[in-house]
Amino acid sequence: MINVSKLKRGIVIDHIAANHGYKIFKQLKLDELDDVVVLMRNVPSRKLGKKDLIKIETDIALDFRVLGLIDPNVTVNYIKDGELKEKAKLSLPRDVSGILQCKNPRCITQQEEVESITFYLVDEKTKEYRCEYCDAKTSL
Ligand SMILES: [Zn+2]
Repeated sequence: MINVSKLKRGIVIDHIAANHGYKIFKQLKLDELDDVVVLMRNVPSRKLGKKDLIKIETDIALDFRVLGLIDPNVTVNYIKDGELKEKAKLSLPRDVSGILQCKNPRCITQQEEVESITFYLVDEKTKEYRCEYCDAKTSL
């Protein structure tokens, strides 16, 4: 089991649904960090049965907004001097790119290679976003 108190400084992303860990890892581009990053999968959890967990030893401020969309039950814990300093609340990002795909068959992004499509939040309850190119709504 991971011991949070062993982490002097950094960030622990906890309560990730099992198998979501790698997705989050990729989405946050943690493979591009030079710092120590640990991805633990299928950790036994009382609440979830199994969970994934990511531990990052870094001072870098990471943008976690995207987690609110991928997995809103995730908790982000900031550790400093071996102690829990702050729990971040997650909310849905106003805009996202890289996760969603436009489902409108007539959208230009279906015909042409578009590097990155930005989607804008339409409805917080339904988690619907609209495509920047065609305004079609989509969700994860
Ligand atoms: Zn579109």
